[in-house]
Amino acid sequence: GASPDSCNTFSHRKNDLPIHGVSETIVGVLGGGQLGRMLCQAASQMAIKVIVLDPVENCPAGALSHCHVVGSYDDSVTVEEFAKRCSVLTFEIEHVNVETLEKLEQRGLDVQPKASTIQIIQDKYLQKVHFSLHGIPLPKFMKIDDPESAKKAGDLFGYPFMIKSRRLAYDGRGNAVAKREEEISSAVQIPLIIWATLFAALGGYDHGLYVEQWAPFVKELAVIVARGRDKSILCYPVVETIHRENICHIVKAPANVPLKIRKLATDVAYKAVSSLEGAGVYAVELFLTEDGQILLNEVAPRAHNSGHHTIESCFTSQYEQHLRAILGLQLGDPSMKTQAAIMYNILGEDEGEPGFLLAHQLIGRALGISGATVHWYDKPG
Ligand code: ATP
Ligand code: MG
Ligand code: MG
Repeated sequence: GASPDSCNTFSHRKNDLPIHGVSETIVGVLGGGQLGRMLCQAASQMAIKVIVLDPVENCPAGALSHCHVVGSYDDSVTVEEFAKRCSVLTFEIEHVNVETLEKLEQRGLDVQPKASTIQIIQDKYLQKVHFSLHGIPLPKFMKIDDPESAKKAGDLFGYPFMIKSRRLAYDGRGNAVAKREEEISSAVQIPLIIWATLFAALGGYDHGLYVEQWAPFVKELAVIVARGRDKSILCYPVVETIHRENICHIVKAPANVPLKIRKLATDVAYKAVSSLEGAGVYAVELFLTEDGQILLNEVAPRAHNSGHHTIESCFTSQYEQHLRAILGLQLGDPSMKTQAAIMYNILGEDEGEPGFLLAHQLIGRALGISGATVHWYDKPG
């Protein structure tokens, strides 16, 4: 069973796998964004070679990787070619081609976490079905086919409720709120328009939507959960995440909530990750309601922006932990070595844009604070 106590107890196990030989291992990562970049940083420290596949020539992970293959992580042939060079294949993004992963797994490639996990998670509706079947508490949800069925959801769930794209969502793009019945038809258009403009080019997907009951949360929490190849699980301290326009803006570690809530959140996160297959770190996004309930929002099968703070504040960062997990090394201690930590996300803008100066002023101020560390994603504009 899931016990928050057991999953938070870090212990040195006997018969540890030796670290020697790891430098010969090639870790392949689908996606080369900031999470891939930070994974490369941790890997370099451990002399582990990471190669990344990302279509963007100057992607954040490119310069720090052992090798950057420029190509689409959604394209079957490209991923198969890339996989030939990898001892183990992993992810920094879940929006990848699952059929290819399954094929590679059948051929014996080591994919961590498993293709089955990516398949469940990349379709948010399937994800909800999966977690509800595993007894994880979450807001009520249902599939919709047209505005008529969305109206039914309004009758069942009340207003407001969320309309969400099943696939390819991030930073709230793909979500819309229906505040009352008259808004449904326009709200349904939002994820559909985003689909049409952003994602249609990818093709081959079911452009489905689903709806979720409004979660009247007082706080959003998140837990990074590490799972070893031996299925052992360790949980990082529960953090509070504060979003600004659906983008992770501030993370407070640990979350300033009663111990009982921290235990409950850890328990839900532990159970959610236990129901999935494969090694690695996972991020579990949660809602805390006024009456002390914890509801699952979604799970990411990878490192997460809510876990950046672990680089400085925990004995083992989420990135090092991910490498340890997928390579079958002993998991590291996830507990905090500082009393508390704050992550503040500075959104950069190109030179000449209004946000450019502000971002640089904030960086300047951060550099003057003892104990503060700046991490710049270096995302191409
Ligand atoms: P991410 O970048 O985390 O992958 P996403 O595009 O998958 O984001 P969600 O996590 O589904 O989007 O939702 C984004 C935010 O919208 C949540 O963090 C939360 O603030 C709000 N939200 C989502 N679902 C609900 C809900 N059912 N009730 C109330 N607020 C919600
Ligand atoms: Mg998401
Ligand atoms: Mg989310």
